[in-house]
Amino acid sequence: MASAINLTLGDDGILVAAMDLPGRPMNVVGDELMAGIAVAVERLAEPAVKGLILTSAKADFCAGGDLDRMSKWTTPQQPFDASMAMKKVLRQLELQGKPVVAAINGHALGGGLELALACHARIAINQPRLKIGQPEVKLGLLPGGGGTVRLPRLVGIQQAMQICGEGGDLSPAKALGMGLLTAVAQDRDDLMAQAKAWIAANPKAKQPWDLPKFRMPGGDSRSPAMAQLFAIAPSIAAAKSQGNYPAVQHIMSSLFEGGLMDFDNASVVESRYFAACAMSQASRNMISTLWYQLNAIKKGASRPAGVAPSKVQQLGVLGAGMMGAGIAYVSAKAGIRVVLLDSTLEAAERGKAYSQGLLDKAVKRGRSTVEKRDALLARITPTADYEVLAGCDLVIEAVFEDRAVKADVTRQAQAVLGADVVFASNTSTLPISGLAQASLKPAHFIGLHFFSPVDKMPLVEIIVGKATSNETLAKGFDYVLQIGQTPIVVNDSRGFFTSRVFGTYVMEGIAMLKEGVHPRSIEVAGLQAGMPMPPLALQDEVSLSLGLHVADQAKKDLAAEGKAYTEHPGMGVVRQLCEIGRIGKKAGKGFYDWSADGKQLWPELATMFPVAAQQPEQRELIDRLMFAQANEAARCVEEGVLRSTADGNIGSIFGWGFAPFHGGALQFINAMGAAAFVARARELAAAHGPRFVPAAVMVRQAETGGRFADA
Ligand code: NAD
Repeated sequence: MASAINLTLGDDGILVAAMDLPGRPMNVVGDELMAGIAVAVERLAEPAVKGLILTSAKADFCAGGDLDRMSKWTTPQQPFDASMAMKKVLRQLELQGKPVVAAINGHALGGGLELALACHARIAINQPRLKIGQPEVKLGLLPGGGGTVRLPRLVGIQQAMQICGEGGDLSPAKALGMGLLTAVAQDRDDLMAQAKAWIAANPKAKQPWDLPKFRMPGGDSRSPAMAQLFAIAPSIAAAKSQGNYPAVQHIMSSLFEGGLMDFDNASVVESRYFAACAMSQASRNMISTLWYQLNAIKKGASRPAGVAPSKVQQLGVLGAGMMGAGIAYVSAKAGIRVVLLDSTLEAAERGKAYSQGLLDKAVKRGRSTVEKRDALLARITPTADYEVLAGCDLVIEAVFEDRAVKADVTRQAQAVLGADVVFASNTSTLPISGLAQASLKPAHFIGLHFFSPVDKMPLVEIIVGKATSNETLAKGFDYVLQIGQTPIVVNDSRGFFTSRVFGTYVMEGIAMLKEGVHPRSIEVAGLQAGMPMPPLALQDEVSLSLGLHVADQAKKDLAAEGKAYTEHPGMGVVRQLCEIGRIGKKAGKGFYDWSADGKQLWPELATMFPVAAQQPEQRELIDRLMFAQANEAARCVEEGVLRSTADGNIGSIFGWGFAPFHGGALQFINAMGAAAFVARARELAAAHGPRFVPAAVMVRQAETGGRFADA
């Protein structure tokens, strides 16, 4: 079997250990890699060997822990043992009495950074794109290879808390500045030369924490400064996470308790907390969705197979308003030439000015250069003339949300481009199959639903109309990946997937108001449920008048189709507020009074919707908010709107922030099991109405023991 580490002993007596895990695109920490490092440690003990350089033969240094292995753990003893076994090898590495340098040639993340921390010096190539960090917390985990033990002893508890607790990336320059890196290098040759020089200059290297009289930089947990930090930080974190992310708490506990002990005891404590995280439902949910399902989507799981990959060269964007301007920006950023069309040249130029604004800010903050800005802007051509669209190989319309206007621009664009160019609509509410009727070729018509602001929101919901061909879908899918966004693919339906399910969350909160639930309890329940924004504030942001307009449109459309329309009990509340001009944030008033200083719940809400003497339990409110969404998502599966579990889970988290620790709207059900879901949904239906009657697919699953298929 090929070894995970190539060992080369140079004439200078320096052993170079290059990690190169066979059959994997990246190095990941697991049994195989650690066995390779153990062999390197043995070689290091040989008298002829003067020191060791740990580096990688792959593009990245090491990407983190082996999640495939973690997914198989069933008892807390397994993660505990794995964590302790890794630490044993790393301890031997740093206690050999010979210098060890990490030559970081690419990303050093998670377990990768922990390997580097066990080396006496860390040198990285100074590329701003090279990422260094402990992102475990983002998957509900804690660095279990010594991260919460070595980092505080190297850069202080406060910085370690930030690195491990927030999980962000550091650039080499930043890591150098805080003392996490020993030095930076220009390129690979320089990296190796510096690593060798460091070994020659430090023949008896020791870790600071193994020196007598070692003191933690900034003080240990007993020091006044750290005691103060630990008095405040956990409550701030708990307020932010609402206690839904156990890893955040465990990281703080590991840092605190470890900061009271010697190195080896702190290591054991860390492994215990690691095991608790690895066994938590939150981490299972997040790994399943935000790792496996997200990767499956990015690798094209929802893209039709057998269609040749495509790349957009020139994009036409019709409508240079908020959305069109954003779509033009992200596309030009990805190197695509963009024709940005509006009814007047001035309007089109205003749309282009949006890119200019974003780029000027980036240049000012040192995140871009004048040359890059100018090159990007040169790719956007504003115009009011349809002839300029000639040569576009994809068109996206983002004009007013009006069928007639959309039909008109479709016809005008096709008069220049012909029927074969793929035509997409960014509509947020109008069914795609209907809009496609204005097209010369409905097979080439598709929905590409972006979210606002386009440059910050990573999701694009691709909507397949009745006539949309596989080739058209593949083209849309490839374009979304080309601009670096995440595509989900859904079938056509009113509100598609995201708007439809998102709506159940805000409307449930609004319905509670009518029942006399205290508005503050509703808002707190939203946050406790793990949603990024509470329902009433969110409806204010989206605007009540838009919600009403969409509902009225749906009612009209359904009447025309001869179908029944059932109004959500919350819609009456929205109507009442709109009637008195409280239409949301844009008017400065909705459920809240909005001002430059912030927002405050409108005091008169209590007069309009008197608060009941008997208030429900918070748990009841939280369940209503979450079950409303999950049940609607299940209905989307039942009706064939959702085409895969991954699309539902990723769409719900990236689209409207469905509590990430649940792993998405369908994983919410998978985690509790269909039988438990159905039982609770029936209780809620009996108490609050038929919207909670469990979707047929859930009843079937409950009866057969089925679940939504994982990636
Ligand atoms: P907007 O009002 O900011 O922009 C619309 C632009 O279209 C305006 O610049 C207008 O001048 C232009 N326009 C209108 N008629 C035109 C015509 N006949 N020819 C050329 N240009 C014309 O609206 P927006 O918020 O950017 O929304 C655009 C579309 O995107 C709508 O379909 C909307 O439903 C959808 N959408 C909006 C959001 C959002 O959050 N705002 C999110 C997703 C999708």
